[in-house]
Amino acid sequence: MGVRPVLRAAHADPALQVLGNVDYRLARNVVVNEFRKGRLSRLDVCDAHPELIRAATGVGEESREDCPICEDVKLRLVSYVFGQRLPAGGRCVASQQDLAKLASRGRSLYCYVVEVCPNCAWNHLTHAYSLVGKSTD
Ligand SMILES: [Zn+2]
Repeated sequence: MGVRPVLRAAHADPALQVLGNVDYRLARNVVVNEFRKGRLSRLDVCDAHPELIRAATGVGEESREDCPICEDVKLRLVSYVFGQRLPAGGRCVASQQDLAKLASRGRSLYCYVVEVCPNCAWNHLTHAYSLVGKSTD
């Protein structure tokens, strides 16, 4: 399992309530195995959008896990948040403080965490969770 600093921090934050967590590790491992068996090419699996690679390099959190495709660098985790009054394409969050700010006033948020390799452009959803800011009154 990779590290999930933002999610772990969200669990620890008394102002936030994490409501569910869906793990996409199995689906991700299927893709990696297909690549290793030669049934998928690098072009098939290393298709990260340049914007995603920029986010991974700029605000992504380094994981302890090597890229499963090029095995040259550590993967970076990028968190996107969706919810009311947020851009349709989601907002990239750099830290747990950003997350807490967005979840304030009882807002519900949906977070998607993507692992990205800035070296070969591998990317895959690792997990998704929803959370709500606890009311302070
Ligand atoms: Zn890679």
